[in-house]
Amino acid sequence: MARVYNFSAGPSMLPEEVLKKAAAEMLDYEGSGQSVMEMSHRSKVFESIIKSAEALLRELMDIPENYKVLFLQGGASTQFAAIPLNFMNGSGKADYIITGQWAKKAFAEAQKYGDAKAVASSADKTFSYIPKTTREDFRADADYVYICLNNTIYGTVYHQLPDTGDIPLIADISSCFLSEPLDISKFAMVYGGAQKNVAPAGLTIAIIREDMLGKARDITPTMLNYQIHADNDSLYNTPPCYTIYICKLVLDWIKSLGGLSAVAERNRKKAEILYNFLDNSKMFKGTVIAEDRSLMNVPFITGNEELDAKFVKEATAAGLVNIKGHRTVGGMRASIYNAMPIEGVEKLVEFMADFEKANS
Ligand SMILES: *Cc1c(COP(=O)(O)O)cnc(C)c1O
Repeated sequence: MARVYNFSAGPSMLPEEVLKKAAAEMLDYEGSGQSVMEMSHRSKVFESIIKSAEALLRELMDIPENYKVLFLQGGASTQFAAIPLNFMNGSGKADYIITGQWAKKAFAEAQKYGDAKAVASSADKTFSYIPKTTREDFRADADYVYICLNNTIYGTVYHQLPDTGDIPLIADISSCFLSEPLDISKFAMVYGGAQKNVAPAGLTIAIIREDMLGKARDITPTMLNYQIHADNDSLYNTPPCYTIYICKLVLDWIKSLGGLSAVAERNRKKAEILYNFLDNSKMFKGTVIAEDRSLMNVPFITGNEELDAKFVKEATAAGLVNIKGHRTVGGMRASIYNAMPIEGVEKLVEFMADFEKANS
């Protein structure tokens, strides 16, 4: 069996242990005589799966009691509309920090529903940094401030959260979910699509402080109303059962590694190997300012488009796949999520060093 190292930004690698366990349980989940794919979402067996997934997530992320955990569908992109439809209902104002395409899309969606304002942006330098803000940058009566915590395309991350005072802070954590400990109490809501770090595509997890609920507009579609999903324990309609099951297996795996601090240490080690190489290479260079570098997504370039294309082609042939950068940045991007083993990053750096030698 020849498995590749998949550096895709998402969907991305899953831990091999998880895939093997899922394969072993495919035909008969714990003596139920059926696959999780086939069972009723109202069955006792599935109820225990979704309950364990929530309990494990609460334990690993240290989620405070007064937060709801919701298992949703529609991807992170659906939340771009759901967020204003649920929360932009006091002053009708919301402040957005534009750190890349995903924040921009969320902002554009919010503008349809009220007075959304872009209070800061790093568009001037192709989103290669996190703009600095102070409390005064935000409107005191804003219903919330919105950020994208880790910018998947551009490879930046907030190492320090913006100070929003009493204004609720909402963050898209799609591409850094479960990558390191996160103090949930600093947020009114965090959410993310599962397909980067948590599970296959099809599941979106939202963690929402209870006092935020119950403010949806009358016209908010039922399926976008967080209160409805909270009241029904994420079983208002058929949830993505199999994806929730894989999510539970991934959470078991994270626990077996020693939880989020152990995972964070592993992720820091991986990122350090790659950034160290980039900082010392004469051919390759990272595109993000050092202080805002992401642990999960690492864009880099040679400065020569032909050489970039050659690198991507040869890397693919060597089993290092999906390393082409986003079209707005060019070059390459290595997404090194939780499931990417350290050896994968070591192999990549070795390959880069050989490529540099052969082509300079
Ligand atoms: C991938 C991604 C999205 C889009 O997720 P979908 O589930 O495809 O809608 C949004 N935000 C961030 C930060 C992402 O990385």
